[in-house]
Amino acid sequence: MSESLVTVLYLLSGALFILSLSGLSAQETASRGNRFGVLGMLIAIATTAFGAQVSGSGYVVLALCVAVGAGIGAVLAARVEMTAMPELVAILHSFVGLAAVMVGFATHLAPQHLTGVEHTIHEIEIFVGVFVGMVTFTGSVVAYGKLRGTLSGKPLLLPARHWLNLAMLLVCVALGVRFAGAPEAVALQSLLIMTGVAGVFGVHMVMAIGGADMPVVVSMLNSYSGWAASAAGFMLSNDLLILTGALVGSSGAILSYIMCRAMNRSFFSVIMGGFGGATVTPSAQAPTGEVQSIDVAETVQLLRESKRVIIVPGYGMAVAQAQYPLYEICKTLGAQGAKVRFAIHPVAGRLPGHMNVLLAEAKVPYDTVFEMEEINEDFPETDVVLVIGANDIVNPGALDDPASPIYGMPVLEVWKAGTTIVMKRGMASGYAGVDNPLFYKENNRMLFGDARKNVEAILAGLRQGRGAEAAE
Ligand code: NDP
Repeated sequence: MSESLVTVLYLLSGALFILSLSGLSAQETASRGNRFGVLGMLIAIATTAFGAQVSGSGYVVLALCVAVGAGIGAVLAARVEMTAMPELVAILHSFVGLAAVMVGFATHLAPQHLTGVEHTIHEIEIFVGVFVGMVTFTGSVVAYGKLRGTLSGKPLLLPARHWLNLAMLLVCVALGVRFAGAPEAVALQSLLIMTGVAGVFGVHMVMAIGGADMPVVVSMLNSYSGWAASAAGFMLSNDLLILTGALVGSSGAILSYIMCRAMNRSFFSVIMGGFGGATVTPSAQAPTGEVQSIDVAETVQLLRESKRVIIVPGYGMAVAQAQYPLYEICKTLGAQGAKVRFAIHPVAGRLPGHMNVLLAEAKVPYDTVFEMEEINEDFPETDVVLVIGANDIVNPGALDDPASPIYGMPVLEVWKAGTTIVMKRGMASGYAGVDNPLFYKENNRMLFGDARKNVEAILAGLRQGRGAEAAE
């Protein structure tokens, strides 16, 4: 394949990736965006495979790698539960980081004939690429453990952690200076030591972030994985990899910014760690009062009398897979003349856009799904709010309890509605590990049990009621 054709096809792939990202920014166009992305990636892989860099036996190796990788990827994607998606995304980010590290070492070890400034630039590319790749790799592995629950979600706050981070960064810079232009053995030694230090830096940085800040970590590592890929592109002189990495890196950075804004946090303070992990005296935090429970029949009765209903889904809805019967409830209530809408908090669930994906899966119409800032003012005029498996995102302490570890995070102000019904299995706290005073409010009722079972029971009750009405 001629070089100019490769360039044209790479440009086409790049354009398709941009169209893909813009499609993914709205639910209505998301599946079209996905198709653009798949097409762009197919063109990119085919162009690279048939480009000048692969020849002869290289095709056999490439075909084997693609077959193994595609096989593992297909099995994983088919098997993964929606609740395990965040972990999958985190571990996939780690692969990108590891790939950048490997490309860096391979490029360094391969014979090359650059001299002068070009040689220096090439060495900087390698050093920076390996650094970013290693931080992404170990950071993503820790994020995987935290999201999976194998590592504690609480931030690890070592006393001199900022100094430790600074020291590690300075050591890496010093090693970089030692690496550039050094004889082979010294250069390799510097690269290896820096890789180890960068690995510890990645672990420590993500260990220090926890609780309600995890969404930012997920999108931040997404961004890092893009920059790692971009660095690999520089090392391999592959324009498309540079461009694609930059697209992922910058879109991840924008997402991190959006997440931070949604949580009323500065990106810098998230990186410094600690949100959701502050030590709070139990007396300052533990809510007091009586919890009032409600049963399915009473919930059905309340819903049948309501004209305006808002549903707030959270992580528990994803666990229970309650979105399907939930949509049936919406249709049934809608048929009875009620206005039913969904309110989505930006960090609901365990992945940016988690709830939107689940609701789209159940075919909930997009025009009934509202973002927090679009619907938060409507709660006072709402008769009933159904909170399904959500906890942190409806915690009033985030607004009125300065002692709360999530103080300052905007939340859905559900308690302003006539009645709130919180559906969860018990009194357990959410991801941030914070008690929720909402459960003790006078206008709140707790409907205990698995969300799916309760949603199905409510649906049956509503339908039964409708049948009885029709028969009268
Ligand atoms: P939370 O984690 O705050 O609460 C979920 C609740 O669901 C739990 O309290 C649990 O209570 C309940 N639950 C679990 N399983 C079931 C079930 N089968 N049936 C009914 N209820 C169930 O979720 P939110 O969505 O409210 O908040 C998201 C949290 O996750 C935030 O703190 C956010 O920062 C964090 N996070 C978000 C990410 C993102 O990108 N969106 C990424 C990482 C973290 P019980 O056990 O009593 O049933």
